Amino acid sequence: MAEKTLNPFEIAQRQIRKAVDELNETDELYYFLSEPMRTLEVSIPVTMDDGHTKVFTGYRVQHNDAIGPTKGGIRFHPKVTKDEVKALATWMTFKCLVVGLPYGGAKGGVIVDPKELSKVELERLSRGYANAISPIIGPKKDIPAPDVNTDGQVMAWMVDEYSQLRGTGQTVHAVFTGKPVEFGGCLGRTEATGYGVALMAREAVKELGMELDVTTSTVQGFGNVGSYAAKYLSELGSKVIGISDFSCCIHNPKGLNIKKAMEYVKVNKLLTGYEEVDSTELSRDELFLIESDLIAPCALENAITSKNAEDIKTKLIVEGANGPTTPEAEKILLRKGVFIVPDILANAGGVTVSYLEWVQNLYHYYWSFKEIQDKQEDKMVEAFENIIHLMREKDVDMRSAAYMIAIQKIAIPLRLRGWIYEEKPEDKVK
Ligand code: GLU
Repeated sequence: MAEKTLNPFEIAQRQIRKAVDELNETDELYYFLSEPMRTLEVSIPVTMDDGHTKVFTGYRVQHNDAIGPTKGGIRFHPKVTKDEVKALATWMTFKCLVVGLPYGGAKGGVIVDPKELSKVELERLSRGYANAISPIIGPKKDIPAPDVNTDGQVMAWMVDEYSQLRGTGQTVHAVFTGKPVEFGGCLGRTEATGYGVALMAREAVKELGMELDVTTSTVQGFGNVGSYAAKYLSELGSKVIGISDFSCCIHNPKGLNIKKAMEYVKVNKLLTGYEEVDSTELSRDELFLIESDLIAPCALENAITSKNAEDIKTKLIVEGANGPTTPEAEKILLRKGVFIVPDILANAGGVTVSYLEWVQNLYHYYWSFKEIQDKQEDKMVEAFENIIHLMREKDVDMRSAAYMIAIQKIAIPLRLRGWIYEEKPEDKVK
């Protein structure tokens, strides 16, 4: 049956409902978690290089701050919608809970194609957005970070804007993470999400009774997450035989040279035209037709749907993107016996290292690249093991187990703080 709707926020709500039901938890808990606590919509006037003013629409959604300040990236993309940002903010809450970070979830987005902006226009938009959301963010309130099409430079402009607005003469580094290393950033942050994807692939492959160095893999998306996922997958021993981006898919059954492909994309922006001995260029959707032991979808939501799930021939999917597999597709894949490492664990490396960046900014004490990667590995492997343990105990799939762990964790502070009560008639004082 064709999928009726692919609204990511409805998908997020369905995932929460499923886990709440599996835990025999209450409707009160579901209703509390199923809507974000705050959704801010802003209009950002930007003076364009030709002198006219263009007004952009942006959002900042804070899902839940029961555990601590909210946290999550900012996305610049022409297809951003309010519901997408609400879904992404919700997933951030669950992601932080799964890896045990003291944060709730948030997300931001601006409807814009940044490729159409000059550098100065991009700076004005970044500053305008930081200014517009400044009343609700702060190092102890909500800490944004990069996401699709935003990077360290964008974070640096936003820190500068926020600090100037405060008017105290102090630079507030800890209000954004994912900054350049030379400006309060953290070693290993750029690599973190992709590195985490490769680590989770390594653990899942072991779970399936194999070793990474006898596997082949394919990676969808070659931006920050996908390129580093491919790089670390190949460094950890997997033969990466397919990569793709918006422009095409590059297939090499003998294994791709990922460093070379990354250098090519740095210069040419897109993968199209990239060549190696034995490589062929296919259309971007053909990536999912390549037979490989594992696939890491590392682009946008809804990449794997009921339309292509039947064609996918793999044992393992490691979700580097947020929400890449629709629930209908997931049903098909689980029926075929595919093991899925869910996004809220597989791509949690970015926010895990963002947390380390934030701690360093607050303490003015900085760790080495190896220390950061070791801490990231410890946190993610521990989370993986906890989820697998519950998955076996409850006999559910890995996504359900991850949501169940997160819901069990957040239910406690919600009740302790008195944010939810589930009074039954018999509890009433007579
Ligand atoms: N945008 C990233 C994510 O979706 C990182 C968020 C952060 O570092 O706060 O997880």
